[in-house]
Amino acid sequence: MVVDLEKLEEYKGRNMARYTGPSCKLCRREGAKLFIKGARCNSDKCAFERRAYIPGDHGSGKGFRKRLSDYGIHLREKQKVRRIYGILEKQFRKYFTMAAKKSGVTGENLLQFLETRLDNVVFRMGFAPSRKSARQIIRHGHITVNGRKVNIPSFLVKGEDVIEIKEKSRQMPLIQEAIESSTEVEVYEWFQVEKDNFKGKILSIPTREQIQLDVDERLIVEYYSK
Ligand code: SF4
Repeated sequence: MVVDLEKLEEYKGRNMARYTGPSCKLCRREGAKLFIKGARCNSDKCAFERRAYIPGDHGSGKGFRKRLSDYGIHLREKQKVRRIYGILEKQFRKYFTMAAKKSGVTGENLLQFLETRLDNVVFRMGFAPSRKSARQIIRHGHITVNGRKVNIPSFLVKGEDVIEIKEKSRQMPLIQEAIESSTEVEVYEWFQVEKDNFKGKILSIPTREQIQLDVDERLIVEYYSK
């Protein structure tokens, strides 16, 4: 019996809980840096920089050039985005449904939903070294939105929202180190950050051009539309 490995992976993805294995394996699997591990991702310790081939494919010479079926190309792009944001399949599909129902371009809508999740915003603003850490910081109640504690990582921010680190949490080493090493917050036009005051403000919902993500979201739309 021939087993379609891509379909098998998709089946497993639908039925498994959150992935708890090594994050770097995911980057190597997707053939792209997904920036899951914070500061390490920009250092020479990055596993993708050192071993840029699919896990288990060592020495085959195929690396990422392995031929993918049309289905595989669509699946890989969807998996890549899902893994970047650290979202389960069920929830990802939900975002797609919401994006399809909303007026405008579905792919852009989808990325806007993902980008305006509170965990992503906390990470983008430089208050956490990764989205995973941001989720932890939020769940532990260290973040407020417009002065009220929000401990739901999937909370969607909107224009004019003010995201702040709670006063008693500002000395946490994880947060301090993230703020000190964050250098890219100025490149985002859709929010502004006051590092010294541990807060940031959403100026507008990001347009596709303002979302710094090297993905082809049309492939994801086609994947779910088949
Ligand atoms: Fe991916 Fe970061 Fe690991 Fe590099 S260090 S392989 S970018 S998770």
